[in-house]
Amino acid sequence: MDKLTKQLYIDKKTFVRIFKENWERYKKLCGCRKVEDENVQRLLGCGDPKNGFIQLRCTNCGEKKIIPFSCKSRLCPSCTHIQLQERIMKIKSIMIKGVGHRHVVLTTPKELWGYFLKDRHLLNVMADTGAELIKDILSFYRKEGIEPGIILIIQTAGRALNFNPHLHLLITEGGLGRDEKWHSLSYISQDLLGRKWKYFLFTRLKGYLLKNQRTKKLIDTLFKEKPLLITYCKKEKKRKIDIVGYLVKYVISPPISYRRILEYKNDEVIFRYREREGAKNKVKKLTVLGFIHLLVQHIPEENQKMIHYYGLYARHQAKKLKRIVEGLVRCFNQEGWEAEQEKLLAEILSFPTTYRERIKLTFNKDPCICSVCGEEMVTERIVGPGGCIIFDIYETDYFEDITNMEDEDAQSFQKEKEQEESPRYHQLLLPTM
Ligand SMILES: [Zn+2]
Ligand SMILES: [Zn+2]
Repeated sequence: MDKLTKQLYIDKKTFVRIFKENWERYKKLCGCRKVEDENVQRLLGCGDPKNGFIQLRCTNCGEKKIIPFSCKSRLCPSCTHIQLQERIMKIKSIMIKGVGHRHVVLTTPKELWGYFLKDRHLLNVMADTGAELIKDILSFYRKEGIEPGIILIIQTAGRALNFNPHLHLLITEGGLGRDEKWHSLSYISQDLLGRKWKYFLFTRLKGYLLKNQRTKKLIDTLFKEKPLLITYCKKEKKRKIDIVGYLVKYVISPPISYRRILEYKNDEVIFRYREREGAKNKVKKLTVLGFIHLLVQHIPEENQKMIHYYGLYARHQAKKLKRIVEGLVRCFNQEGWEAEQEKLLAEILSFPTTYRERIKLTFNKDPCICSVCGEEMVTERIVGPGGCIIFDIYETDYFEDITNMEDEDAQSFQKEKEQEESPRYHQLLLPTM
């Protein structure tokens, strides 16, 4: 067993303490983006009932339980965990069943990373260019042109937490032709992909970057010096891990799990990482401010979407096309896929939709069961940030006898009550554990 994996890692409290003890100093010395400050403040307030909570009461033994709201910070290891499961399922449910998905990675040269860091709009330019590239590649193989489904994920973190913008794409192995038939395509030349990606990316970036001579020269030099850009192109069948979960984790969760942080002591943080898949663990020691910088730079701007959908998966047509395409695919020979797809479908259908069920799945315990007597607890109060009462069982008409009401009133009252008790209502107020 690897020696390093036996080492202890820090807990969530220590992770939060890194920010609690140093954030003000960091802001003064290094400055920060608005979105960085917002996310750190939310993390620091995670679990604090001042930021809102749900109060449960056991009607059997009187036990009270407070569940604080989710802090919704991109840096929070526990609150992002529940969101992560939701996003994974959302993506899996739109993926066309019966079709293989190729995992493609498109990288950018390190000479350009600083530009992306300075102007985050370039991330969107990179994403659109990536989707354009794939459509072009497919038309190279299929002259008549086919429309694939593309799920594209922007990642900014390299393995050592450095700012290394690159794209991960899941592409249907084939696409819908103009003849309304499904055309399978399972081969893409990596060499062609790398050369075309270089051409597409540099040409597009040129349009955005050529503000001065230095940049112009840099791109021209890169054009000449690099025959192609690094890309990866793997067939799905060969993969053992859950690729959707793996990719989404990087954009929903903090860029480093606290299980990889070994120590926070004397103003220094030690963490481990791998230079590439399967490589041995490396250990890095940084000043705490340097470590904070590495983490917060990956928080996307508020309006920055990190997951994009193109072609058959584009939002406006995803639902409509999914059935048609699945029907077409079924006519195709897709041996071996059926069992796997059935498993995937079962997984999606059984995914819990309420907050309570999701907690059960994630933490293996039911948040609404009394820890003293095991009875089911009821929601007594819901208090929003700053103490505003959203719901209070004693201040509503719950105890009025609805039989005294006029029929119509009683019905609408009943409807309102059902709404408040519905899982959807509780889902809107997703608390943390
Ligand atoms: Zn949190
Ligand atoms: Zn009880």
